Amino acid sequence: MENDPTFPSVERTLSVMLTFACSAECRDCGTISSPRNRHNLAIADVLRGLDEAARLQFHNVVFTGGEATLRWGELLIAIRHATALGLPTRLVTNAHWAKSLDDADARLGVLLEAGLKEINFSTGDEHVRFVPLDHVINAAVATVRQGLTAYIMVELRSEPLVTRKSILSHRLVEQLPLSLQALIKPSESPWMPLDPGRVASYPEGIAATKENLSNCLGCDSVLQTYVMQADGRIGACCGLGMRMIKELNVGRVEGSNFLEGAIRDAGDDFLKIWLRYKGPEKILAWAAKHDPEIKWEGMYGHRCQACIRLYRDARVRRVIARSGLEMMPEVIQSAWLQEQYIPSKLSGKAVP
Ligand code: SF4
Ligand code: SF4
Repeated sequence: MENDPTFPSVERTLSVMLTFACSAECRDCGTISSPRNRHNLAIADVLRGLDEAARLQFHNVVFTGGEATLRWGELLIAIRHATALGLPTRLVTNAHWAKSLDDADARLGVLLEAGLKEINFSTGDEHVRFVPLDHVINAAVATVRQGLTAYIMVELRSEPLVTRKSILSHRLVEQLPLSLQALIKPSESPWMPLDPGRVASYPEGIAATKENLSNCLGCDSVLQTYVMQADGRIGACCGLGMRMIKELNVGRVEGSNFLEGAIRDAGDDFLKIWLRYKGPEKILAWAAKHDPEIKWEGMYGHRCQACIRLYRDARVRRVIARSGLEMMPEVIQSAWLQEQYIPSKLSGKAVP
């Protein structure tokens, strides 16, 4: 399994962080971005990464950051290049550029002309300290008017001001025809502290406990998304823990075939495979059975915070080092079920 270059048999995504600079400076920003962060990827490296992703038959490319639109010219070059290679592109942005509906229309028109296929916005109580919600609404309205779906990721915390509901009931959204309103899709995702020891407050039932552990699935980002980061490192997932967990960095944007090397190195690591098929909450719960001093219940509403904990906590690491191999048969069985058995059953083909 580990030496199989096609493992796991997923459609891979290349995520490109053109810059760590951002127009905002949210507390607990998962990518540690800010207006002062000056890390930038060279456009020549980005284009080489796109060429390699096309050769390795990656499924799509996501431009994220930082705020990718701060490198507007390079972003357009990269979207055009990916499009010419047949790679569909998505942009994740805080919409700081959509100061009016006209601004939003104009920017979006250029992005679509370059070949952009999908756009996602981020907002929430922390974001709106820097980017007013009206900018996100302008961008979302322009997006749906131009025929795309506007996906909006909203911070989920207890008693938030910005919510899915406040977006859908915004005056500009309500003025749209119902068919376009239906294309505005906000979804709420827990906002996590970067410190694995800090416990955030979430609505009831969000944080992992023994009672809801069976709902915690494997992490479908690790070994599926490879991230060219603005500081030249390559991440093996697109999660919020990626910049904080050195083990999730599996190469550098250097030389030739750097993506191929990163995929090989990441797939050789049992802990990443375990994360992929079981998820960090179940690993923490398993570790706590071996060492009851490990407390985890009710602490993690966002799985990447649980992931930072399992990589950083010496007690958890000790249990993994001593006893982790006992989980290998179960993890391999889950991998087989998810990679081969279930897809074969669904497609009606013989199970390998
Ligand atoms: S907008 Fe996004 S990238 Fe920028 S600081 Fe906030 S969370 Fe970080
Ligand atoms: S849970 Fe861990 S491996 Fe998965 S996306 Fe989050 S940080 Fe990455």
